[in-house]
Amino acid sequence: MSPAPRFDRGHTDDLMSFLAASPSPYHAVATAAERLEKAGFRQVEETDAWDASSGGKYVLRGGAIIAWYVPEGASPHTPFRIVGAHTDSPNLRVKPLPDAGAHGWRQVAVEIYGGTLLNTWLDRDLGLAGRLTLRDGTHRLVNVDRPLLRVPQLAVHLDRAVNTDGLKLDRQKHMQPIWGLGDDVREGDLIRFVAEEAGVDAADVTGWDLMPHAIEPPAYLGRDRELLAGPRMDNLISVHAGTAALAAAATGGAKLDHVPVLAAFDHEENGSQSDTGADGPLLGTVLERSVFARGGSQEDRARAFAGTVCLSSDTGHAIHPNYAERHDPTHHPRANGGPILKVNVNMRYATDGSGRAVFAAACERAGVPMQNFVSNNAMPCGTTIGPITAARHGIKTVDIGVAILSMHSARELCGADDPYLLANALVAFLED
Ligand code: ZN
Repeated sequence: MSPAPRFDRGHTDDLMSFLAASPSPYHAVATAAERLEKAGFRQVEETDAWDASSGGKYVLRGGAIIAWYVPEGASPHTPFRIVGAHTDSPNLRVKPLPDAGAHGWRQVAVEIYGGTLLNTWLDRDLGLAGRLTLRDGTHRLVNVDRPLLRVPQLAVHLDRAVNTDGLKLDRQKHMQPIWGLGDDVREGDLIRFVAEEAGVDAADVTGWDLMPHAIEPPAYLGRDRELLAGPRMDNLISVHAGTAALAAAATGGAKLDHVPVLAAFDHEENGSQSDTGADGPLLGTVLERSVFARGGSQEDRARAFAGTVCLSSDTGHAIHPNYAERHDPTHHPRANGGPILKVNVNMRYATDGSGRAVFAAACERAGVPMQNFVSNNAMPCGTTIGPITAARHGIKTVDIGVAILSMHSARELCGADDPYLLANALVAFLED
């Protein structure tokens, strides 16, 4: 008999607040940490010595969070059950010398982050968020959550062929947002403005990681409000579901014979190679230190890792009604059809048959349907943190997720039930 699902549409309502509160990876990990704190988790510093105590703990590093719950009586070689995800989304990022302008328009110089759909950033009212680094090395989150910037599209009268020949965007020339008027552009204008918004002295701001975000809040959509439209669902759907699932596993009273973990990394959208990305040592170091803190040896570490399983959760493509031929002819994930298992035999996804069995069992225990995703052979397949986690740490990994439309758009679309169906499957996995 399947246990009653823990999460319902209320989880999707909560996802909407999570998305709105998380315009940058730094905000996403702060939002996740705040929720974990409510479930009794406590932050540990990487620079401190760790102890053998049980309970919920988490490490924050930039835009990454690793959280874990040591159950009462866990041994040094107790294996881990990990939900992996990523906190970053493709977008625009502010350049080091951001103050620009031409012909009376004040502009902000931006770089392109990840494989964003550039056109989706045009003619959208944008806020600005991220973190400021102060002279003393501390960080301050900032979120200007009102219309501040806009990348204006060229009028059709000046681009007559745009609807027939397609929109052609130069990544350097055409993507610089405007943020007002003025001929007196001075270096430091933007940072002075942002510092004031953050309530800090601009002279103390010595570093920044800032990015525009679409300010329109997430919304239910469709005849029966059965869809959810919103920003950054790739991959905050998974970060949010993983956070909720870990909190539920830690507080649910089930007897755990492993250590449940949430690992949410930054920089997935450009290949995960950073100290906060999945291709860095962060996850392995945290797991190892957790083993050693409980008095474990290298042998205990090897035993724990050998018994560990990771569900790498990220978005995948739902079947698109207008482009069905781009998908595999027989694998058609649908919105609200339940979480997807992602397969690619060339290891763009880490799933194999035994991994499939792990996820299928979790879905069965949770009473949620499971769907299968595989690419059309003529289309290159995307990838995610799954294969990197498997290869870097030697951890058995299964790629799963939620099927969405408009992946990497500034505003994506998914079924409104799928986020909580995913969360229920993740709890069943973490509690097994
Ligand atoms: Zn993703």
